[in-house]
Amino acid sequence: MKEVGTMQLPNPCTLCPRACRADRAHGQRGFCGADGTLRVARAALHHWEEPCLSGDPNAATGSGTVFFSNCALRCCYCQNYPISQGDVGKEITVERLTEIFLALQKSGAKNLNLVTATQYLPWALPALDAARAAGFALPVVYNTGGYETLETVKALADYVDIWLADVKYASPDLATELSAARDYPAVAEAALRQMLRQTGAPVYDADGYLQKGVIVRHLALPGHTDDSFAVLALLARIRNEEGVPFIPSLMSQFTPFYKAAEHNLGRRITTYEYRKVIDEAVRLGLTDGYMQEKSSAREEYTPPFDLEGV
Ligand code: SF4
Repeated sequence: MKEVGTMQLPNPCTLCPRACRADRAHGQRGFCGADGTLRVARAALHHWEEPCLSGDPNAATGSGTVFFSNCALRCCYCQNYPISQGDVGKEITVERLTEIFLALQKSGAKNLNLVTATQYLPWALPALDAARAAGFALPVVYNTGGYETLETVKALADYVDIWLADVKYASPDLATELSAARDYPAVAEAALRQMLRQTGAPVYDADGYLQKGVIVRHLALPGHTDDSFAVLALLARIRNEEGVPFIPSLMSQFTPFYKAAEHNLGRRITTYEYRKVIDEAVRLGLTDGYMQEKSSAREEYTPPFDLEGV
């Protein structure tokens, strides 16, 4: 084990369900691309998350978002592919990450939004501890593709107020083809159930900003409405079995980034397809959340990864 701040980097690495067992402490890169250093690609106010996180897109405030480099999933359509599967990012220290968290709070952020942080938890958690000791008090959002171990979710119980988690697929075959993760459906379901158990029902402040709870995102993919239906059925079942409300967030913004076209995802979703998915969500009562407008398939949702704020 290599000591990093107050938490250890497992050696070999088993921080995520991939459990690729890379010897990161000695510089070996894992399946996710991370090695023994912390890399961050952007830290800035972000205006395009769900309104209960970002507020009015034209307001001076927003979600204080930190984009970490690398990712344990290999989504062929990833809109953040320059940082998730490319090499964009800058090596920084725990001390610098602490300063970044405090600077986002000072800039008026409504929350701290950690995007794909799991491979860097041995750095991020000590940075959160240090920031809190220095007066940091924002709700912490954990923005994840949903591919998390139960151990990781449990380890974050005292750190994360809001889970912003994808449930991407119900089909192992589709998860294999599009994200190279056959176990994704089972892993994401178990992780989501644990998030709900430890976080509870949504809590908002007087201005409507979420302070605690779980937002479950599902991005509807062109040509795969059947799998979206299966995901929605799963979400309805989880809601009924766990008895804990969550905020569903249906997304239509799929844009054929990166290698999408090589996997029959070379177009945006049609209005007809997306309408079918929305109708099914309504039929299942998954309505106490967000349904993105079909006109939202715009590239502005993807910020420039120019190392701003890092
Ligand atoms: S976090 Fe990265 S290095 Fe660690 S197990 Fe997952 S893929 Fe491998």
